[in-house]
This record gives sequence, C-alpha cells and structure tokens, in this order.
Amino acid sequence: MFSLSHSFSARLSALFLVLILGLGVSLTVLTIQSMVMFNEETEQKLNRTLAHQMAMEFAPFVQDSVDHESIEERIAYLTGINRRIEIYLLGGDGMIKASFIHEGQELKRDRIDTAPLEDFVAGKEVPIAGDDPLSPDRRKPFSASRISMMGMDGCWLYVILGGQEVESTAGMLRNSYIFKTTLRGLLLILLVAAIVGFVLFYWMTGRLRSLSHTIQEFRRGKTAARSRVSGQDEIGVLGQNFNEMADTIVANMEDLRNTDRLRRELIANVSHDLRSPLSTIQGYLETALMKQDELSRDQLREYLDIGLKNTSSLNGLVSQLFELSKLDAKQVEPEMEHFNLAELLQDLVMQFGERARQAGVELELEHPGELDAVYADIGLVERVLGNLIDNAIKYTPEGGKVFVKPANTVEGVRIEVRDTGSGIPEEDLPHIFERFYRVEKSRGRGRGGAGLGLSICKKIVELHGSALSVESRPSEGTAFGFTLPRATMASA
Ligand code: ADP
Repeated sequence: MFSLSHSFSARLSALFLVLILGLGVSLTVLTIQSMVMFNEETEQKLNRTLAHQMAMEFAPFVQDSVDHESIEERIAYLTGINRRIEIYLLGGDGMIKASFIHEGQELKRDRIDTAPLEDFVAGKEVPIAGDDPLSPDRRKPFSASRISMMGMDGCWLYVILGGQEVESTAGMLRNSYIFKTTLRGLLLILLVAAIVGFVLFYWMTGRLRSLSHTIQEFRRGKTAARSRVSGQDEIGVLGQNFNEMADTIVANMEDLRNTDRLRRELIANVSHDLRSPLSTIQGYLETALMKQDELSRDQLREYLDIGLKNTSSLNGLVSQLFELSKLDAKQVEPEMEHFNLAELLQDLVMQFGERARQAGVELELEHPGELDAVYADIGLVERVLGNLIDNAIKYTPEGGKVFVKPANTVEGVRIEVRDTGSGIPEEDLPHIFERFYRVEKSRGRGRGGAGLGLSICKKIVELHGSALSVESRPSEGTAFGFTLPRATMASA
C-alpha cells in the first residue's frame, strides 16, 4: 500500500530538499558575490594612493614625451617581477596615450570613461569600477591620479588593480580553501537536512497514515473503526470529523435498518389486524346466509350486530393507520389558535362520563383555579386527551379513579391524565409509544385497541413542540402528561 514515490512524507521531504537546495545555492551565490566585492573594495582601499605615488614617480618621464623604458623600469622597481597591475596613461578625455601591460595582452578599447576616475579622485566611497582596456565590456577596480603629461594638465594615470589573477571568479573560487570547505559543509548540511527532513516528515505524517488506515477499515465494513488521532491541529480535527461522520453513518444505517424492520412489522401487524375482523365478519355473514331459514330473528340480529361491530373496528383501525401515516409523512399541519383549555376539558369529561359510569370508574376534573389560555390545534389536542382518557378508563378496574389535572407551569399549561388502574410493567414502558405495541396482547385485543393510539398521541404532542411523558407503577396506576404552549408566549 505504501509507495515511496506516492507517499506524502516523501513529497514533503523532496519539497523541503528543493527549498534547502535553493536556499543553499542562493546563499552561495550571494556569499561569492560579496566575497568578490569585498576583495575589490579592500584592494581599492589599500591602493587608494597607488596611482598618486606612481604619478609622482613617473612625472619626470612624461614631461615632453612618454619615456616607455624608464617608466617600465620604475614599474619593475616599484612592483617587483610578479606584478598584478596594468598601468595606462590617459588624456583628459580618457583616450589611452600609453599602456604598460603584460606580454601577450591586447588593448580592446582606445578610450576610457573618466566619470568613475573623477569620482575616485573626489574621494567617493569605494568600490568604484572602471573600464578595463583589455576587455570591451568588463569593469574592474582601479586606482587613478591626475598627471601632467607632455605639457598638458588634467591627464590621467590609470591603474587597473588585481590584474589577471582576479580575472576569473571561478578560477579564484576553485583555488579558495575557504570556498571548498564551505561547499563541503553545505553539502553535508544538505545531506543531514534531507535525512532529518525525511525522518521528521515521516513521523509527522504518521498520524495521517493512521487516519487513512482507519478510514480504509471503515470502508471495508468495520463500522466500529474510529480514529485515535488526537490533537487540536488540522489532522486532529480531521480525525474528530471522521469519527463524527462515522457515528452519523452508523446511526443512519441503524435508522434505516430499524425503519425496514418496522415496515415489515407494520405490514405483518396490519394484515393480522385486518384479517381477524374480516374473517369474523365473513364467518358470521356466511352462517347467516346458509342458515337463514333456521335462525331466529334475534340470532340473525346478533350475527349482524357482530358483523357491524367488527366493521366499525375495522373502520377505526383503517382511519388510525391513515392518521398515523399522515403524521409520519408530516402532512398534518396543526391549525394553531388561542383557546381556553378548561372548557375543552369539561366537554371531554362530560363526553366520557357515561363510559366511565358504565365501567364503574370515577372520572374527575381537578380545577386548579384560573387556567392560562393555550396556543394549539384544538381538534388535535382533543384527539390526544380523548385517547388518554379512553385508555385510562379502559385499563382501570371497577371502583378505580381517573383524574384529569391541568396546571399552569413555567413552560406553559401542563395536562395530566392519571388513573389508579393496572399500570404498565417497567419493561413495557419504553415501548408503549411504538405502533402496534400492546402490553398484554390478549388483554389489548379483548378491549379492542390496536396499539396505535399512543403512537398517534405522541406524534401530535410533538407537533406542538412538547413531549408525551408517562409514569406508571403496576397495579397502582399510570399518569400521562404533556405541556401546551401558553397563548401569550406563542403569540409573542
Ligand atoms: P390501545 O389502542 O391498544 O390502547 P395504545 O397505543 O393506546 O393502544 O396503548 C398501548 C398500550 O399501552 C396498551 O395496549 C396498554 O397496554 C398500555 N396502556 C395505555 N394506556 C394505559 C393506561 N392508562 N394504563 C395501563 N396501560 C395502558
């Protein structure tokens, strides 16, 4: 998997090397340049008065004409055999009148620009470069002095310093011990930097490799793989982001799996719940048809009654399913309005009064005093409360009590439907809001519920921005509750 040419650390190291190499080369060039300039500067400084001294020495030999021989002698006397300078006598306009150069050398100019010479004698700061008569374009450090020549004032004695030996910088460098040592040092530094750089970058990219390994594992299906890369830097943040993304993907997968399971359960439940009333209806109708002559009027009436009851329970189931699917698809838009909850509660208690009496259960509305108006969909709230009261009566044995208890709270108006009924076992509590969930399958069926009521209630309460809570103790009772937004709060 790991290839050196593709590795990030190798690329980083290469980049680092190139940078260091560039830096090294620029530094070397800069050092050489400044070395050459420093050389020239020192040379010129040391020889500032050279031309002047020579001019004084040569003065007698240039009075009427230039006495070459005598001057050569003087030069040999002054500089020794191995001289490093070239000497020229120039007219005031820079024209070369006489030259004292080495054998084999050839003049390439006949005139010199005198501006740098003027600067030199004026004492301007050195280095100043002047035209080299031995080259058409080269400039070199020099020493210069005014000299009177052949009766003319304002002529020049022009001395090119350094001469041949400094001619080639490369030559000079080749022979320079300091330069060779510096070059060797530079190469060594480069080598060390390359090794250190590679090791350092390999170490630094280790976290990236570890992250990449984790991502690969995750991709191959190991969904528990998480990055252990720590730190607050970019790689650390990348690791954390990957972990969060992986958590989301896993949660989504779990959701999808759950949805799929629920869908399958729903189809199984729906078909089961539809089938049993349908087959009951079919059975009774068939019997009534077959035995219509033998059956008494009362028996026939009873059969039709059973058929009708099952039809209406079927009808109820289908409308509940329809309602739930609309809530699921978020197609139910609550029509929010301000209304007085106390009136709605009174109506509901009146409405369920008869049912409660028949079941031998006492249904009571506890008045808390002045109730704040709420902001909610009155029809949907009635649907929830109706379902909760109906359940409370259904699951409370004769002699029991059902209380409807509203109260103003900080969050809004809270309504509780509490009963002294059978209660819900602890292990069933987390599931009662699931669709088709019944605590005691046979008991629930006997009382006609399909296990959809609480799922619908939960969704409606959530539509109002609240949550349906439940508290229950087996054989002591159950309390369902939710909070509705206060009218002033919601409309503010
Ligand atoms: P159902 O239509 O069967 O009543 P629900 O969704 O309304 O379905 O309720 C789900 C289950 O929760 C019921 O089967 C019942 O076992 C339990 N339950 C609901 N309300 C109460 C209550 N007040 N007391 C005891 N059990 C209850």
